[in-house]
Amino acid sequence: MKIHEYQAKELFRKYNVPVAESCVAFSKEEALKAANDLGVFPVVIKAQIHAGGRGKGGGVKLAANQEQVLTIADQFLGMRLVTHQTGPEGKIVRKVLVEAGQSIDKEFYLSLLVDRHTEKIVIMASQAGGIDIEDVAQKTPEKIFKVYVDPLLGIQGYQLREVGFRLGFPAPAMKQLYGLLFNLYKFFVENDASLVEINPLILTSEGVVLALDAKVDFDSNALYRHKDILELRDLDEEDPLEVEASKYNLNYVNLDGNVGNIVNGAGLAMATMDIIKNAGAAPANFMDVGGGATSEQVENAFRIILADPKVKAILINIFGGILRCDIFAKGVVDAVKKTGISVPVVVRMRGTNMDEGKKILIDSGLNFINAFDLSDAAAKIAAAVN
Ligand code: ADP
Ligand code: MG
Repeated sequence: MKIHEYQAKELFRKYNVPVAESCVAFSKEEALKAANDLGVFPVVIKAQIHAGGRGKGGGVKLAANQEQVLTIADQFLGMRLVTHQTGPEGKIVRKVLVEAGQSIDKEFYLSLLVDRHTEKIVIMASQAGGIDIEDVAQKTPEKIFKVYVDPLLGIQGYQLREVGFRLGFPAPAMKQLYGLLFNLYKFFVENDASLVEINPLILTSEGVVLALDAKVDFDSNALYRHKDILELRDLDEEDPLEVEASKYNLNYVNLDGNVGNIVNGAGLAMATMDIIKNAGAAPANFMDVGGGATSEQVENAFRIILADPKVKAILINIFGGILRCDIFAKGVVDAVKKTGISVPVVVRMRGTNMDEGKKILIDSGLNFINAFDLSDAAAKIAAAVN
């Protein structure tokens, strides 16, 4: 689960990770008040969306006086900000961060993430921080170094020093960096973060070290033990269909293709996406209704997929085990009767009560395309969309 920069910086303050003075604002009047409260100019107005690349996309601007604060806040709030991380559809800006402008001497890159391969927490850092870090990673990856921390031992003094030296930190600022990194590591572990990225980490011309940007992602599977973090969730930033699906415990991910699919079991769902691709079509979603789905859940799954305008045909692939085929078929028929259906639906159903399930589909009088096996289903769905 991602949070906004302003929320991450609030948490950083609690952990004594140094950040610049700032305040979030939901209107231009609030932005002006925030700037006046900071009592310094220039301030930097930063669009708050769950994506990076805001600087390059025009979502971070310097305001030299009150008038500019109003103009920029007015321009940002409500705008659709497109960055290389948002995709072409962009994201609507609903709040801005008003931050004291810093005189930057140098920008560094610093992040912590879980490395599944080594089963450690990896610190990634670079002297070449700032808005071009993706270019650095692609063209000169040797400029980014990694230090692996064993989670059982925690971060060690020599590792703090290694990061400081390899970043080429000047001696007087070194202690600040050690403190920042030590506290950041503590924040990461105590809150089950999966990613913490500070880009840029800056050294100001006065020699002060600050986290000038803050991107944090939490392990969703651990949120049950962090109620305070869960409260920071911003549903406006998430895909509305995915939010709807999560209400019914459906494992749903919206994708780019045009074949909607409903499957029971995550493994079968992935295999189904593969056969759709193999047949020359592309899945519009991943949808696992779960092994023990009820007919209401099937109905909700169907409704969510039908609400996706990209979907030009639907493939239902069910293996009747705990979820019996007749229960499933009833859910599908109920859903189609309620919502109506304008796209072809191919059904491949096998397992417990398969014949009863097929009978329910046929007796419904609705126009389902029956498939015999997986390859037959794939061929029929590809024919339906191509
Ligand atoms: P993003 O990573 O989404 O582009 P950042 O918060 O990193 O957004 O801001 C982009 C750039 O804007 C930074 O690299 C920095 O140069 C500048 N910047 C951001 N905040 C401030 C600030 N408070 N004072 C001065 N410059 C800033
Ligand atoms: Mg940044």
